[in-house]
Amino acid sequence: MAFAQTSASSLSASRILVTGGAGFIGSHLCDRLIEDGQEVLCVDNYYTGRRQNIAHLAGQPGFETLRHDVTLPLYVEIDQIYNLACPASPVHYQFDPVQTLKTSVHGAINMLGLAKRTGARIFQASTSEVYGDPTVHPQPETYWGNVNPLGTRACYDEGKRAAETLFFDYRRQHRVAIKVARIFNTYGPRMHPNDGRVVSNFIVQALQNEPITIYGDGSQTRSFCYVTDLVDAIVRLMATPDDITGPINLGNPAEFTIRQLAEMVIALTGSRSKLEFRQLPPDDPRQRRPDIALARSLLGWQPKVALADGLIETIGYFRECLGVPKIRVAV
Ligand code: NAD
Ligand code: UDP
Ligand code: UDP
Repeated sequence: MAFAQTSASSLSASRILVTGGAGFIGSHLCDRLIEDGQEVLCVDNYYTGRRQNIAHLAGQPGFETLRHDVTLPLYVEIDQIYNLACPASPVHYQFDPVQTLKTSVHGAINMLGLAKRTGARIFQASTSEVYGDPTVHPQPETYWGNVNPLGTRACYDEGKRAAETLFFDYRRQHRVAIKVARIFNTYGPRMHPNDGRVVSNFIVQALQNEPITIYGDGSQTRSFCYVTDLVDAIVRLMATPDDITGPINLGNPAEFTIRQLAEMVIALTGSRSKLEFRQLPPDDPRQRRPDIALARSLLGWQPKVALADGLIETIGYFRECLGVPKIRVAV
């Protein structure tokens, strides 16, 4: 078995560990790595991820899965680690905040310990949440952020910030080859219908002609990146020389208000849904847009998929999931 010891097959392909591989982004990353001819070990505890996200990869020669919680040590032989394990939706990461912090912090320590022992290169899925409710706009990597360390989002934000610290300390202290990406809001097929994040919520509500739940007045902004664009950037970052560590912003700089997103989703689904305004959750960032100058110059990358096109793909996915037939295309 390639992940237990060096084998003849592992001499050509890289043995790649993807933690959180059964999740939304992780499953698309597994697809891409298998397409590229790599050997992939997908590790997940199925907390928010689903077996069905990776079911189509079962039986592929280079693909293997392991049910495992990254807060526990893991001894395998690998060349690269993509550390994505962590619930990402506010609803899910706030459900068990202590477990969220453990996943970010103990998970990072274990994966960094694994990288240190094996000499593997390691990627960390950090987040735009390290900027908190930003006072600098758009956010460059040099901005230190504005995070409430005691609030309900802190288990995620501070967990990811501590993980970044660990990554840079393992580099300084143990010379581990690290790649840290700050991922901005990403969407696409395979988001869980009950994920709770805005794109999936709005699409699921629109397809069922239910009220679209806007938190606050909908004037807060986000910048939405389609998942295949993001995966392309992640793989490019992993392939950069060792002196490129990040942190590097990955996201789509096109910025929309949440109300604009709601209106687009209604138009693209041809829904009869009405807007329903609800209370804004505490510490909800007012605005968010990545400065991607660094990604453009270091990775030669920029997103290709416009929001309307990505939404059409995602709507198609949720139609199938929910068994909602296509009625008409509004735009
Ligand atoms: P997701 O919830 O779909 O995926 C997370 C995966 O991690 C799931 O499969 C889950 O079961 C698994 N997981 C959680 N805790 C675990 C543990 N202790 N041990 C093993 N597996 C565990 O979310 P996603 O959107 O695919 O996010 C993937 C990564 O990208 C996360 O680290 C997230 O913080 C980061 N990220 C995502 C976004 C985004 O907009 N999607 C933005 C910034 C950062
Ligand atoms: N670890 C792991 N797999 C490995 C090597 C280490 O899961 O192949 C975990 C182990 O739990 C350890 C942690 O990573 O506690 C940090 O490892 P490191 O070598 O940095 O520290 P130490 O073993 O000295 O605590
Ligand atoms: N949001 C909303 N309605 C929903 C879900 C989310 O208005 O049903 C808002 C949320 O308050 C935030 C934005 O949409 O301002 C993005 O929320 P999400 O949970 O997707 O991600 P965040 O960027 O806040 O982590």
